[in-house]
Amino acid sequence: MLLPYTHEPFTDFTIEENKKDLLDAIKQVEAQLGGHYPLVINGERIDTTDKLTSYNPSNKAEIIGTTGKATKEHAEQAIEAASVAFESWRKVTPQERANILVRAAAIVRRRKHEFTAMLVKEGGKPWKEADGDTAEGIDFLEYYARQMIELANGKPVNSRVGEQNNYIYTPTGVTVVISPWNFAFAIMAGTTVAPLVTGNTVLLKPASTTPVIAAKFVEVLEEAGVPKGVINFVPGSGSEIGDYLIEHPKTALISFTGSRDVGVRLYEKAAIVQKEQNHLKRVIVEMGGKDTVVVDSEADIETAVDAIVVSAFGFSGQKCSAGSRAVIHEDVYDEVVEKVVARTKELTVGNPAEPTNLYMGPVIDQAAFDKITSYIEIGKEEGKLAAGGQSDDSTGYFIHPTVFVDVDPKARIMQEEIFGPVLAISKATSYDEALDIANNTEYGLTGAVITNNREKIEQAKYDFHVGNLYFNRNCTGAIVGYHPFGGFKMSGTDSKAGGPDYLVLHMQAKTISEMY
Ligand code: NAP
Repeated sequence: MLLPYTHEPFTDFTIEENKKDLLDAIKQVEAQLGGHYPLVINGERIDTTDKLTSYNPSNKAEIIGTTGKATKEHAEQAIEAASVAFESWRKVTPQERANILVRAAAIVRRRKHEFTAMLVKEGGKPWKEADGDTAEGIDFLEYYARQMIELANGKPVNSRVGEQNNYIYTPTGVTVVISPWNFAFAIMAGTTVAPLVTGNTVLLKPASTTPVIAAKFVEVLEEAGVPKGVINFVPGSGSEIGDYLIEHPKTALISFTGSRDVGVRLYEKAAIVQKEQNHLKRVIVEMGGKDTVVVDSEADIETAVDAIVVSAFGFSGQKCSAGSRAVIHEDVYDEVVEKVVARTKELTVGNPAEPTNLYMGPVIDQAAFDKITSYIEIGKEEGKLAAGGQSDDSTGYFIHPTVFVDVDPKARIMQEEIFGPVLAISKATSYDEALDIANNTEYGLTGAVITNNREKIEQAKYDFHVGNLYFNRNCTGAIVGYHPFGGFKMSGTDSKAGGPDYLVLHMQAKTISEMY
């Protein structure tokens, strides 16, 4: 019997002992740098001619490690292996599958600082953010294990006299998991173990910028008892093997987390029934956001300032939930803006592996650096630069937290996902107008409203059209089992990861009726 689920506690790095433990773990990870991690297909390590190289975004000369790079032939082998393994894995009891997740959680918990240190080095995450990423991965393991046990016997339905009816959930089939780099551990792990625990077999294709931490997680799953062929590790270029995986007639479920354009393309491709395909594919796509913090005239100013700064600049704004825009009522606009700008100027930026525990690290790679700095140039045309704007990619990809004020709600920096430390602020003349502006993008992922007025809170519950709506706090930091996560509109299929409806998306409901 498992203890009830509670989320993994966060580490307090102001405690000397914790700080020392993480610094030791960073040294341990540094000693492993340059290691090679082959593909894993049907339990076999398979080396490839081409490799993926993972670099430290804080120090681009430093190689974190290399992994194999899957071609279409490898993808085909992995799909075959996963198809064969599915026939036995689908009959393993839900309890046994759940036990594997609990064991994997225990292994990761024992090596928690090592995973966190790897996220600091490979993902460029500041300590607190990296620790949160590891904790969230553990949460997914623990939470989905319990959810599976709850769903093991399906859901109750009525039976008449002489009839026994059952409504159960069965696995779907071979699943392709394509994950992003920004929660290189948590999202990669969560989207992998959800299909596994529900009885599906998996091909995991992690983001090419962070494949090493994914390789380490696959080792954990093997150690915890996932049989060969059930998890297959196929890192590779999304644009080279993505279509093959998605269009293959034997893949049944696609779980993608990433950008809007890739997600939409994949959603369309998966809808086309291929020759020899005898099923319709299930697709989960969770995509980008352009998330807003709304500040009402009746708001607590300090709460508003905190919410805006934390939402905009946590992990350098590289969160789908990042509050990259703020809409502030004119009555409090000047005061809130002044404080946000002052607070932003205090934020520290640098290499997070240094012992100083900085607020912000680098952005992930050269492409992200170039994209974000080009948006800063656009911002200079569209608004008034009030903080930041500096950037330096000589050693790593560092961009200072940047604030643009007095921005038109329709401006590009108010509409497009920048995915970096750039905040745009607009003024609203009324609460209604603020909510209209908050809804005026194609995205609908997260949002926050800062107000002390109960009626306005109730109004936003109906009128602010986002999947995750928060009041009097930041719009980032969803916790598994507490804030199920998923977006509306062009933010995705609203799968609500870490919530009670998530696992069901990976299974097919089956009605069984027997007369006796
Ligand atoms: P991305 O460029 O879309 O990549 C995501 C994944 O898709 C990577 O594994 C990538 O592989 C793969 N990919 C790229 N092109 C592909 C193709 N043509 N076919 C199949 N797969 C392909 O996104 P990202 O830059 O990694 O992540 C940032 C984005 O993810 C942001 O938009 C963010 O908002 C979103 N996100 C959303 C959520 C959510 O829950 N809604 C959570 C986290 C992130 P390669 O690395 O090999 O290109």
